[in-house]
Amino acid sequence: MTERKLDCLKDCNAWCCKTSRLFFPFTADEAVYLKACGAVLTPGTKNGDSGYYFDSDCPFLRENKCIKHNKKTQPLCCAINKPGGEVCLEMRNRAKQRLRSLEIE
Ligand code: SF4
Ligand code: SF4
Repeated sequence: MTERKLDCLKDCNAWCCKTSRLFFPFTADEAVYLKACGAVLTPGTKNGDSGYYFDSDCPFLRENKCIKHNKKTQPLCCAINKPGGEVCLEMRNRAKQRLRSLEIE
């Protein structure tokens, strides 16, 4: 997938944070913090990485924006998910496919 120049807070509706059952390689401490803030997480693995599946929208979303964006308390895996990079574009693509499937259901 080709990289695109994107700004998370201006060009996106937080597609990487709310498509159902997304996998995030959060650390155990980050998971404890997220759960204390209201996240529903299920432990799991993907491609050999340990992490968690979100069974809820992230509690740090407000009006489709991450309130932890570029802050010290943003989980590391979110902070290193480069906007416009491979993971970002895959998430956006998956979200678009899901929206299309909902439109024809
Ligand atoms: S990383 Fe990508 S999908 Fe996630 S909020 Fe930023 S632009 Fe959107
Ligand atoms: S912390 Fe921010 S970037 Fe990470 S999943 Fe939650 S809303 Fe998305």
